Amino acid sequence: MRIDIMTLFPALCEAYVSESIIGRAVQNGKIEIYCHNIRDYTKDKHNRVDDAPYGGGNGMILSAQPIDDCFKAVCEMVGERPYFIYMSPQGKTLTQPLAVSLKQHENIAILCGHYEGVDQRVLDKWCDMEISIGDYVLTGGELPALVLTDVLSRMVDGVLPNEDCYKDESHYDGLLEYPQFTRPAVWDGREVPEILLSGHHLNIEKWKQQQRLSITKQKRPDLFYAKQKDSENIDFIDNIGK
Ligand code: SAM
Repeated sequence: MRIDIMTLFPALCEAYVSESIIGRAVQNGKIEIYCHNIRDYTKDKHNRVDDAPYGGGNGMILSAQPIDDCFKAVCEMVGERPYFIYMSPQGKTLTQPLAVSLKQHENIAILCGHYEGVDQRVLDKWCDMEISIGDYVLTGGELPALVLTDVLSRMVDGVLPNEDCYKDESHYDGLLEYPQFTRPAVWDGREVPEILLSGHHLNIEKWKQQQRLSITKQKRPDLFYAKQKDSENIDFIDNIGK
């Protein structure tokens, strides 16, 4: 997968994608991530990329021209038109299933807005999907773009040791993950659940599944009842608390 981030703050994005698991994946060629400075594409003689909104109102709006030229340049670099995502508080809320559905795109370009937003006309021309990371407003699209880049990157083959690393986690199948423990077996007078020390793999798997159900019911009843509704597993409810 290749991700191109279009932003006014490429250094901010580069700093994140060059570290830790994502940074190693980029270095090892498992995923390609490029950050482009929208300002490099402005034709304004004062190097401006924004202007006041027509009709009045607060703040500044990112102009259409530099974004249009930046995306056209990305299309040329990629060799085809990537799927265009605009990070926006008005977009579809990012969830694990939405991220999984985006895996089908080999090339994704992500636009980070700033100030009061982006001239609607360039979005009408190119945007395939608007995505929000939650019902609140941030100063810019860089953190949302990095959140999306991270969730997509960790599902690319070879970025994590194997598929189970992301499939066994919270949200992948609509449930939360079971509680986890590491050495020592007793810490601060608190013991690791005995079953996890038993070496009985089948019983451990059963315990994990029961924990997932009861923790989801307790922490996120909305997810639990949605899963229950979808589930064809008649033992679904019977498993809780056993
Ligand atoms: N005026 C816009 C509105 O009310 O819908 C908000 C603009 S916001 C201050 C500036 C930029 O931050 C947006 O263009 C978007 O790219 C990004 N942004 C802010 N909150 C976001 C969120 N919850 N999810 C995704 N992007 C967000």
